[in-house]
Amino acid sequence: MGYSAFSLLKNALTGHRHWRPAWRDAAPQAQYDVVIVGGGGHGLATAYYLARVYGVRRVAVVEKGWIGSGYAGRNTTIIRSNYLLPGNIPFYELSMQLWEGLEQELNYNAMVSQRGVLNLYHSDAQRDAYARRGNAMRLHGVDAELLDRAAVKRMLPYLDFDNARFPIQGGLLQRRGGTARHDAVVWGYARAADRLGVDIIQNCEVTGIRSEQGRVVGIETTRGFIGAAKVGLAVAGNSSRLAAMAGLRLPIESHVLQAFVSEGVKPLIDTVVTFGAGHFYISQSDKGGLVFGGDIDGYNSYAQRGNLPVIEDVCEGGMALMPMIGRLRLLRHWGGIMDMSMDGSPIIDRAPVDGLYLNAGWCYGGFKATPGSGLSFAHLLATDTPHETATAFRLDRFGRGAVIDEKGQGAHPNLH
Ligand SMILES: Cc1cc2nc3c(=O)[nH]c(=O)nc-3n(C[C@H](O)[C@H](O)[C@H](O)COP(=O)(O)OP(=O)(O)OC[C@H]3O[C@@H](n4cnc5c(N)ncnc54)[C@H](O)[C@@H]3O)c2cc1C
Repeated sequence: MGYSAFSLLKNALTGHRHWRPAWRDAAPQAQYDVVIVGGGGHGLATAYYLARVYGVRRVAVVEKGWIGSGYAGRNTTIIRSNYLLPGNIPFYELSMQLWEGLEQELNYNAMVSQRGVLNLYHSDAQRDAYARRGNAMRLHGVDAELLDRAAVKRMLPYLDFDNARFPIQGGLLQRRGGTARHDAVVWGYARAADRLGVDIIQNCEVTGIRSEQGRVVGIETTRGFIGAAKVGLAVAGNSSRLAAMAGLRLPIESHVLQAFVSEGVKPLIDTVVTFGAGHFYISQSDKGGLVFGGDIDGYNSYAQRGNLPVIEDVCEGGMALMPMIGRLRLLRHWGGIMDMSMDGSPIIDRAPVDGLYLNAGWCYGGFKATPGSGLSFAHLLATDTPHETATAFRLDRFGRGAVIDEKGQGAHPNLH
């Protein structure tokens, strides 16, 4: 179903009775060239680029629930490419550029809104660290501006600039960063992949990975065995569980991250802003709710809900930044599972089992990576070589000591 002003008018005049489903509800076939496990943003984007860019047509995406029912549909939707390390910047910038053309490419309104991402700094040392990051970004052709206090005040006059403990000194701004509508990204990729012949198989849980003579030959599912020459895992918070089905133990821990949405208010925050003296980030949705979050809960869990101490901590961060939000009521909050890697960076690589490929370790930054992850995972699946922007995301980097530790926290997944 293509969308245009003409199709909208035509369907409006005929009582909206002729819209067709945006994608088929496919039944599993016996054999595919590539099966992607996980119908989130990454899995669907991978299937789309496999078909469109690499011409692989016998592709299936297997999803245990409905597509977008995982963390693609539960995140705070921030997109950005403001990274420091050379292993990360080109990849996230590729993703940013794909976001910029995504709606035209998919003919789908993903509500990509480049409203800017502003990271505040509160000390001289933090300013120097941000200046360094901004310079690294600019050396890679990524936009970055270091703002002083007066410039931030002009942009966001309602922040608490003179907070006694954490006065705001300035910020690092990436104007091309912003937000995108998470569900629409999933639906847009699903529709485009389906049009290229990709089978999207929902309500089909993978329960095992079958190998013969050391090579993966397919997956066991609740809807029977599905044969595949190659199997790609893109299951986010469930990466360790799925990898264990192939006998692998990944350098990943599963942690809970919470997100919060306030009641709707009139337009207030026209950018994404992060507090530099704690972990708190906030933006405003088009419906008016303030969407915010903070640190992960800090213990290993597969429970999709968080705990009160973190709620308190996040709200304290928000109050330190903009005390007025204390007057708002919280509308809803929820938790999701993050596949936190040991260095805070992802893995896009062949697994040490033939025919199995990994897309994992996205920590709590995987949404912004969706288009770049899809393209580079498709490249790996199609060519067996890493995409040029993802060469650092190797699984063996933990053994070689070639970690990509953006935060400089060491091997502590809960701190990345
Ligand atoms: C509260 C919260 C806030 C976040 N905020 C941001 C943010 O602002 N910016 C950002 O960049 N990132 C953010 N993230 C991270 C981001 O959501 C994830 O990194 C990203 O969504 C993961 O990729 P995905 O979309 O493919 O995952 P998912 O949507 O989780 O897709 C994986 C799919 O695999 C399926 N699956 C699992 N096991 C099986 C199985 N056995 N068989 C079949 N299917 C299976 C799941 O049902 C799921 O649909 C946030 C995450 C959370 C939870």
